[in-house]
Amino acid sequence: MRKINVIPLPNKITYLGGETETAAPETSVCESLGEEEYILTVDKDGTKLAGGSEKALFYGMQTLRQLGKSCPCIRIEDKPAFPYRGFMLDTVRHIFSIEDTKKLIDAAASVKMNVMHWHLTDDQGFRFFSSRRTDATKKGSVREKSNFGKLKESGSYGGYFTPEEMKEIVDYCAERYITVIPEFDIPGHTSAMLHAYPHLSCTGGPIDIKTCQGIFDDILCAGKDETFETVFDILSDIIEIFPSEYIHIGGDEAPKKRWKNCPDCQKRIADEGLKNEEELQGWFTNKVVEFLESNGRKSVVWNESLRSGLVKNSLVQMWMDRKKDSVAYANKGGKIIVSDFFHYYCDYPYGMTPLAKTYNFDPILKGIKNSNSVVGVEAPIWTEYINNFDRLCFMCFPRFTAVAETGWTEKQNKNVGDFCRRFEKYSDILSEIGITPSPASEWNPSPLKRLKIISFLLGLLDRE
Ligand SMILES: [Zn+2]
Repeated sequence: MRKINVIPLPNKITYLGGETETAAPETSVCESLGEEEYILTVDKDGTKLAGGSEKALFYGMQTLRQLGKSCPCIRIEDKPAFPYRGFMLDTVRHIFSIEDTKKLIDAAASVKMNVMHWHLTDDQGFRFFSSRRTDATKKGSVREKSNFGKLKESGSYGGYFTPEEMKEIVDYCAERYITVIPEFDIPGHTSAMLHAYPHLSCTGGPIDIKTCQGIFDDILCAGKDETFETVFDILSDIIEIFPSEYIHIGGDEAPKKRWKNCPDCQKRIADEGLKNEEELQGWFTNKVVEFLESNGRKSVVWNESLRSGLVKNSLVQMWMDRKKDSVAYANKGGKIIVSDFFHYYCDYPYGMTPLAKTYNFDPILKGIKNSNSVVGVEAPIWTEYINNFDRLCFMCFPRFTAVAETGWTEKQNKNVGDFCRRFEKYSDILSEIGITPSPASEWNPSPLKRLKIISFLLGLLDRE
């Protein structure tokens, strides 16, 4: 009997015997089903689709589309394993056009992803156009050159997204039941913003927009009230453009060197009765979280924000958490998204992160007591080494699709070999969208090839 080729694999499939043609379905919204749950029946009597909401019907339609013109007679009862299924696009290190971003959104929608996390600000550029603080964008969006390891580009590089362009992406996503979560990364990764506003640093600057990757000492000064006035203005602009319940406020990789030597930051530590600079970051985050909450929004933060022990009400994105703070946070009732660096970061070569490693990773991290505290998964693509869309697609596909399947399909129904078989057929949909995935020969390199790639990467690190 022919098996169906659907990604993500539906959770309950009943083969009814025989083959039939698919047709435009009779649809109905059914209140007894969950918001993302649908039942699709294709048999000799026709094609019927019931869903718990319009969104669920959309998901049923994605399944139907992948079934093709004819398929085995079938009844599919399906709902996702996790409520949060996302991808992250870094448009700071390299910019990807609205048109190409829409292709990624189409691909994400076709595999029932429901979040696009848009990384808009960082050391190498400020790509969000802020109407209240126009200098952040005007002065912070163009770097002199690019020097990302082996990817060097002479000449200035820059650009930003206008409010109209960002709204266009928000609307495009909404039509596909995808929420855009914008990221304004603070207090670290703010060189571009500090280039525009050097007085918001601890030293007063001047501060350059960075032309290479790395972690940089200059971060927003937590001791100066004007820092918060500026941050809140920019967040107010973000809130006006993005209707998402959650706003990502970064919090990763914030070195404390400047704060240790800054009289304003030290005064803040004393005034607020904080123990040290880690607690100052916790205090900083909470102040921003309170601002968001007063505007009816919630926050997402990278896992480093937990180091102070002060952050309470944020959704935490775990990426590399050596001290297991995210697990402890989840076990105290917090919610986390899993984007484990070693498994889900799509910017690393397949030699380091083979497809099977990505696919087989269990987001219910070791030590998690209640699996409901993991709300979902997200596959990030950082773009220091990626300056064109073809390369981006090579790195992200099939990985995005593998993470989407982990987000939707229950663990006991997953199988990497079967996924690879189904991906071959699914790649027709990517090709309709205008995306070329990496060829199957790249996905799971032999141990010898992996060793060569890893040695090569370590060699590169040694030289820097
Ligand atoms: Zn300071």
